[in-house]
Amino acid sequence: NLSQRLETVAEFVPKGARVADIGSDHGYLPAALALRKRIAYAVAGEVVKGPYENAIREIQKLNLANIIQARLADGLAAIEDADQIDTITIAGMGGALITQILDAHPEKLTGVARLILQPNVGEARLRTWLMNHRFQIMAEKMIAEDGHTYEIIVAEPSIVPFRYSKYELTFGPFLLEKHSPVFDKKWHGELQRQKTVLQQMSHASQPPVKKIRQQEEYIALIKETLNNDD
Ligand code: SAM
Repeated sequence: NLSQRLETVAEFVPKGARVADIGSDHGYLPAALALRKRIAYAVAGEVVKGPYENAIREIQKLNLANIIQARLADGLAAIEDADQIDTITIAGMGGALITQILDAHPEKLTGVARLILQPNVGEARLRTWLMNHRFQIMAEKMIAEDGHTYEIIVAEPSIVPFRYSKYELTFGPFLLEKHSPVFDKKWHGELQRQKTVLQQMSHASQPPVKKIRQQEEYIALIKETLNNDD
């Protein structure tokens, strides 16, 4: 059984997909998809030996070696042309690391029809990367599990350039639109945290003027968005 977080990632994997799950750890996501006969093929990529060996064990235990290949490689280097990967999943890491992984091997993204990404932090930065590389966000979900909130972002290549507003980049175009209770809770919490950060900045012996201004703008953005539905 998958966590709700990985279950939500799984939900967006097209039927019959050829998936590369990068940073797969135990390979739970591709294993669940293969057992459900949801996918045709998967690569479970891992850069660390321990998790890679965990994935191999999991694949053997479940008798899925004909569908899932575990590979020890850095990011998208796990993908080979012959895999004909059409879907990439990257879950459970920071947005900065996810963008780094996507940036490192642009040639591996050419045949890819869908990215399903679950950044733990740094969502705005990831959305900015997607926009700048013409990956249009097709769906988003925010879920709460074990005291954390997680965002799942689904993106597909676009032939035309497009721009997201600073609101869409920060909050997510679909999440902003839906404005769910989980969304409100996350951003109320974030607002409190950022206010504390601002106070600490202001009380410094040499207050960082530029950072304070940016912080105030960020806080104003959150307040504005939270008040939208009042
Ligand atoms: N994707 C799984 C999930 O969402 O539950 C596992 C998440 S785990 C917190 C992050 C995994 O990414 C670790 O196993 C780590 O070794 C792997 N990882 C980090 N950087 C990587 C990279 N550049 N290439 C491949 N895997 C990487």
